[in-house]
Amino acid sequence: MKKALILGGGFAGTTTAYLLEREGWECTILEKEDHLGGGCRTFFYGGHPFTYGPRVYYGYSDKVFRWLDSFVNIRRFPFELLSYIEEEQRFFSYPIHEADIPKMKNCDQIIKELESCDNSKEPKDFEEYWINKVGPSLYNMFVNQYSKKMWMIDSNKTFDIFKWSAKDKPIETGSKEAYKGSYIGYPVPIDGYNSYFDQMTSNIKLVLGENIKQVSLEDKSVKLTDGTTLKGDILISTIPVDELCAYQLGELPYAGRDFQVFVLPCKQVFPGDVRFCHYTGKEPYTRITEFKKITYYEAEDSLLVAEFPSHANKLYPYLTKKNVKIVDQYLNLLPENIFSIGRLGTYKYSTIEQTIVQAFDAFAKITGKSLDGMEDEFFGIGDTSLLTKSRRENTATKERVRG
Ligand SMILES: Cc1cc2nc3c(=O)[nH]c(=O)nc-3n(C[C@H](O)[C@H](O)[C@H](O)COP(=O)(O)OP(=O)(O)OC[C@H]3O[C@@H](n4cnc5c(N)ncnc54)[C@H](O)[C@@H]3O)c2cc1C
Repeated sequence: MKKALILGGGFAGTTTAYLLEREGWECTILEKEDHLGGGCRTFFYGGHPFTYGPRVYYGYSDKVFRWLDSFVNIRRFPFELLSYIEEEQRFFSYPIHEADIPKMKNCDQIIKELESCDNSKEPKDFEEYWINKVGPSLYNMFVNQYSKKMWMIDSNKTFDIFKWSAKDKPIETGSKEAYKGSYIGYPVPIDGYNSYFDQMTSNIKLVLGENIKQVSLEDKSVKLTDGTTLKGDILISTIPVDELCAYQLGELPYAGRDFQVFVLPCKQVFPGDVRFCHYTGKEPYTRITEFKKITYYEAEDSLLVAEFPSHANKLYPYLTKKNVKIVDQYLNLLPENIFSIGRLGTYKYSTIEQTIVQAFDAFAKITGKSLDGMEDEFFGIGDTSLLTKSRRENTATKERVRG
């Protein structure tokens, strides 16, 4: 029996372990926390379920949605976001919506700026990218201070890659729903995704509470805190790629978050389909989530979580050309049969959907087998080409059935 060592027990690690185990591999997951799930683990406070930061499922792939839903039933819901603009003394929809513009204090100026936006030039940096799309006034209201706060930076010119922030249609029209046409939802069970991680690992050896600090890439082995060494035929890592490689090329920067959990004495705080709000100004927090609006937990009071930018943990990679180049160099250092996947393993903003696909991709590379073509379902948020493709396929199937 071939052995796989898997570092990290989030979506990437547990899904890969499950897929390999079904093919006869002996898998061991080594996880630094005393629980599985990584950032998507559900915890409880006063009976209320919550995660650290909202982990709503959103994506565009029918196949990935069906996969997850077959293990943990996902409740789909409409999804709206609000941004608080302090100088306007009110919330507006986000993505910026055309119906809100007449309600803004300097709407004449904003309209003039929108009319003269020039999208033909390739922007040099994140600031130019946004000003080209929406003009300086809307950029200042919705993006400028928010982005500096979120990333703890002095200038938005720091970022020279901005696809992750891509809003092909910067000013929304029609309904105020965000990520229109995608799958948006959250598990029905009160413990969220937790049972997914349990089902993925029911036949897997788990070593919890083990913070892996020493990895031998040549040997595909790890040294545990009790001094023992575990060796695999392959090693799948979902821990930060620079950490995996013992920081040989230097440490990669990350933004993190501190989270404050609080309960308010009212049944519902946010209106309608609004499930979280962004704060774009000098407030020390970036986002507040009302968890009942995601989990559908029933109670007389409501739990909210506020997020404060910090360097306390590694949650958001700083996507600059320089950092991406270092990541490529790190990935090139990896010998055969070592796979670095997941959000931290690839230093990408991967969503739950994209992370699950990465596990299928690793499985295909390791075994040479494809499961329903799942490894090809990777695409960016806002990239609706897959949606269009799946609609085309559905129409073709219906036509075949009719024919
Ligand atoms: C605040 C926030 C909100 C998000 N919201 C959404 C959302 O709404 N929708 C969505 O689709 N995606 C969201 N995401 C992204 C989503 O959470 C990730 O795609 C997903 O969790 C990635 O899974 P993973 O297994 O790659 O990483 P993780 O879940 O981070 O798992 C990595 C695991 O490795 C363990 N580990 C790390 N270092 C070591 C070590 N040295 N030794 C042993 N174990 C180690 C960690 O403890 C962790 O359990 C969000 C991300 C953040 C940060």
